[in-house]
Amino acid sequence: MTSSDAPAMRHWLRLFVGLFALLSPLGARSQTIPALPGNEFRPLDVELLKAAGLRTIEGRRLVLVTDLPSRPDVDELPIVFEQAFGQWCDYCGPADAHDRAWRVRAFLMVDQAKFDAAGAMLPELPKFKHGFAIGHEIWVREQPTPYYRRHLLLHEGTHSYMQTIRSGLGPPWYAEGLAELLGTHRWEGGKLTLDWFPRTREEVPQLGRIKLVRDMVAAGRLMPLEQVLATPGTLNANNEPYAWCWALAALLDGTPAYRERFRQMPEAASSGQFEKRFRAAFADDWRELSDQWEVFASTIEHGHDLERSAIRFAPGKPLAGSGTVVEVRVDLGWQSSGVELQAGRSYRLSANGRYQLGQKPQIWWCEPGGVTMRYHAGLPLGLVVGAIRPNAPTRGQPTPLAKPDPIGLGATFTPQDTGTLYLRINDSPAELADNVGKVEVRVEAD
Ligand SMILES: [Zn+2]
Repeated sequence: MTSSDAPAMRHWLRLFVGLFALLSPLGARSQTIPALPGNEFRPLDVELLKAAGLRTIEGRRLVLVTDLPSRPDVDELPIVFEQAFGQWCDYCGPADAHDRAWRVRAFLMVDQAKFDAAGAMLPELPKFKHGFAIGHEIWVREQPTPYYRRHLLLHEGTHSYMQTIRSGLGPPWYAEGLAELLGTHRWEGGKLTLDWFPRTREEVPQLGRIKLVRDMVAAGRLMPLEQVLATPGTLNANNEPYAWCWALAALLDGTPAYRERFRQMPEAASSGQFEKRFRAAFADDWRELSDQWEVFASTIEHGHDLERSAIRFAPGKPLAGSGTVVEVRVDLGWQSSGVELQAGRSYRLSANGRYQLGQKPQIWWCEPGGVTMRYHAGLPLGLVVGAIRPNAPTRGQPTPLAKPDPIGLGATFTPQDTGTLYLRINDSPAELADNVGKVEVRVEAD
């Protein structure tokens, strides 16, 4: 959650701090938490903070004000934040000389009434569920798990960095997607890693973004690309929009074909021309991106292998002669067969080969019919599947690549629309790396 007109706020706060410094006698200034040059901390009354039972932990990048008792997972937050600062600089663009003293003051709250009494809440703060950032100040509600508490602090910290150093957030989907992308982290052995794609649910207790996307897709509510991009600015009600925005940011950041372009976007957010620059950057493969998004969203897993599962796009050519044989790698997601199937005609597909689906505890062999002792996405694991990607996009319908048809040892396809045949085996996108081998698929006109 963010304030949308941060630059105006920043200007106003600077004026206010300046005025305060002019008007207050020296004795009164010692009653405030000092701000480093270039940082716009509002003056707060130390006596009021004390009276409200709030304590302050001063770090280099984070001043934490909280009503939580001293505990390692709370008291270490300024160290976490300091490591995050270096990673924000790397990811979002470096701080200039003026911002080297950059700090944020965070209010980590169990009982908001205490923060009200201490004057820590700004009157312009909207009602918020988890957290909010305005300029150099952050408010975060205490959470049941240390992971999610850090996550919210890093989420709001990302907003704060973008507001104060980059002076722009971009549209809501990007502001929230980026804050979720960089808020999703690993903290292990005193080392912080932002932009962490969770490998398991246990790594990110209470986060639940992957489950939310999976549940919405299962309920028939796959959100198309354009709809995610149109995410509205007031997101306080529930976590679903955050899940979609994170998933899109994670796809763009984690897919080799998109990563470099996506990582230019903090600069685009600064420029005030985000929308134009984002669409221009992806104009040449917009439809592919839309399909990739729908496939990713409908197959998302913890540990999703974005590199291997990326669709290998290539337009097909009409079948020459009586038929052809195409090779399909079993350690990748969708691959173009290079064959175009014509609407209304029937094609006979048959597959053969022997390949490995795993190597532990021993090599796990599989054939095109799959293994029926283990299912994935409602079909036998390792089963050969196919889909026809129409030459002309079908409006309002998810890409057929999001709903594969079984081929197994053999099947007949009669496409409704002319398009390219795509093939893969049925496996979790998190478990492609240990697959070995190829399968041959023969395509013949019936
Ligand atoms: Zn936010």
